[in-house]
Amino acid sequence: MDDDVTEDRARGLDAAHRAAVDFLGTLDDRPVWPRANLDDMLDAFGGPLADEGADAEAVIEEIARLADPGLVAIPGGRFFGFVIGGTHPAALAADWLVSAWDQNSGSATLTPTTVAMERVAGRWMLDILGLPDSSSVGFVTGCQMANFTCLTTARNAVLARAGWDLSEQGIRDSPRLRFVVGAHRHGSIDRAARFLGIGRQELLIVDSDDQGRMRPDALERILADASGPLIVCLQAGEVHTGAFDDFSSLIPIAQEHGAWVHVDGAFGLWAAASESLRPLTAGMAAADSWATDAHKTLNVPYDCGMAIVRDPADSIAAFRTGGDYLLYTSLDPWDVTPELSRRARGVPAWAALRGLGRRGVSDLIDRLHENAAAMAASLAAIDGIRVLNEVDYTQVMFRLDSDDATTALGEAVLLEGTAALTGAAWDGHAALRCSMSSWATTRDDIDRTVAAIRGLVVQATERR
Ligand SMILES: *Cc1c(COP(=O)(O)O)cnc(C)c1O
Repeated sequence: MDDDVTEDRARGLDAAHRAAVDFLGTLDDRPVWPRANLDDMLDAFGGPLADEGADAEAVIEEIARLADPGLVAIPGGRFFGFVIGGTHPAALAADWLVSAWDQNSGSATLTPTTVAMERVAGRWMLDILGLPDSSSVGFVTGCQMANFTCLTTARNAVLARAGWDLSEQGIRDSPRLRFVVGAHRHGSIDRAARFLGIGRQELLIVDSDDQGRMRPDALERILADASGPLIVCLQAGEVHTGAFDDFSSLIPIAQEHGAWVHVDGAFGLWAAASESLRPLTAGMAAADSWATDAHKTLNVPYDCGMAIVRDPADSIAAFRTGGDYLLYTSLDPWDVTPELSRRARGVPAWAALRGLGRRGVSDLIDRLHENAAAMAASLAAIDGIRVLNEVDYTQVMFRLDSDDATTALGEAVLLEGTAALTGAAWDGHAALRCSMSSWATTRDDIDRTVAAIRGLVVQATERR
């Protein structure tokens, strides 16, 4: 490669480094919610494509100049919207290497370094989460794809047990498969079902309790009337309340009826990595598959989720590419996920785990929970605010006395800029939700956020 190209590349990387450090340096003080909207940013980046190109440094500097007003302070300590983690420093830096290395990580034969790191990261995770160590771990973009990957595997496996080879015989005349789901399942379960050709009317929906946990008596009743192949979808961490299904009661019921048990644990699976919070997940390891994210609780940069399946043979049956046009080794990443060409997502996961260590992961989960408890206590002390959930884990949900006031407070928080949280509907009413998912959140961040919210509530009360 000629010197000019080498130089251009180095300058581009230097410019990206500068821009990244500059952005990260603004996190403490910049408004958390973006100041610009999509139209502003389309104007900034739009216009016709220039005829002439530019060197890497110029491109990066242009991006840095234009991008800032539309960026969200997600990696900072006061972004509490949705369920979104920050970025652990080792994972962030490792993620840069992933791009520089440009390893197409579907095959162990082609890219041994990144596939090994992914496999080891997977094994470390199984270990700290207390899941069977021989499970397959497929790294995908997030928990939506992890749910889809696990449920595809489950569908093929339960049909195979019913004597139907889906790969050979296809879906059309297959035995009727039922998905059994909780009333408070995450929307990604419905989407996965849709991708798999399971209609909304075909879901068997089990009642939940007031925290969104599936009720064992209701599951018992639904399964007593169900026949044919069954997949029961349970949940570790309801998005609004953070509540965990009672696995010790539910899984034996599902298994008595021959069902495959899947656990959506996008952020909740990680409770198992904390000694004090592990009881929330009691009995969970008896399931057949588990879906989770590394980009939420583990604070790996986007995107990174994991599809975990107890018996790797089930994963292979669903995903291994037939024929001999691809190279085979023992267990390639493309044997356990729908993807072929792919980013080396295991590398930042390995780096986050290595950077934190076993104790660091456990401490991180504990701290997220402590932050949630502190936030809930401080919010509850504000006149007019009612906390709606039992704060067992990382989620805090609250409201004012009316839907309108609650929604208005949510909008005012984003505009005020100190913190970001997002809205929710709970029990037919508007609520606001605060998710503790970032390693970067400190007590000071919580104090600043509570002070800002208190100010806004007082202002609104005075205006009335
Ligand atoms: C976030 C979330 C998902 C979807 O995960 P993505 O990473 O956004 O694809 C699924 N289930 C639960 C419970 C979640 O919180």
